[in-house]
Amino acid sequence: MRKHIVAGNWKMNKTLEESQALTKDLLAKIPHDSNVEIIITPTFPNLYPVHEHVKSSPIGLAAQNAHFESNGAFTGEVSTEMLKSVGVSTVIIGHSERRSIFGENHEMLAQKSSKVVQDGMQLMFCCGEVLEDRKAEKHFDVVKKQLEDSVFQLNQKEFEMVVLAYEPVWAIGTGETASPEQAQEMHKFIRSLLADKYSEEIAENTSILYGGSVKPNNAKEIFSQPDVDGGLIGGASLKADDFVSIINAF
Ligand code: PGA
Repeated sequence: MRKHIVAGNWKMNKTLEESQALTKDLLAKIPHDSNVEIIITPTFPNLYPVHEHVKSSPIGLAAQNAHFESNGAFTGEVSTEMLKSVGVSTVIIGHSERRSIFGENHEMLAQKSSKVVQDGMQLMFCCGEVLEDRKAEKHFDVVKKQLEDSVFQLNQKEFEMVVLAYEPVWAIGTGETASPEQAQEMHKFIRSLLADKYSEEIAENTSILYGGSVKPNNAKEIFSQPDVDGGLIGGASLKADDFVSIINAF
């Protein structure tokens, strides 16, 4: 059975004090007996202080990015070894903001994906089309290529560490959400790609999250789709009440 996951992508938000306050608020409000894997993603400097709060709780810690080398002359970068040493167990790779603002290409994303899983961490790999692709009805081709050129370079064993997040770029931070049918259709398509590339078992067991303006008022409908196994939540993860309502939508 595949896992249900609700992950909060805090992006470049929250100082140390704010990160700690939000974490404490979440710890007070999250269901402690839930079968949903709950993950939060503070910025690099706040990972360890937040780890200190969540280490014996149901909340897991993710990083928003990582480099593909272990150490060395890579000014401004952070390695998976460093992340693991401060309590991080999941790394997000391929978020559309990393692709569009920081120019991360398929090759780089393939290297990063491989590093994350080889270090035994859970890889949360994002994909999703821009509005022009959808208007031109190229969204299936675009997502297929994003997967094939990067995360599908992993072998079957490595792929067991992967969670996918489908995030249509036109729905991120825009207040516009893919309809539950649009999400389901793409998730089902991605699952068929997993079956073709790997196996029926991998297709059945891989959690595929939806991301893009998930809010307390639309989470239930999106999560009720058979191929949607959770959400990657941006804006609504910055308020404990909103994030907890989304977790409780399962
Ligand atoms: P959003 O962001 O929920 O604010 O649309 C989602 C994401 O970028 O992961």
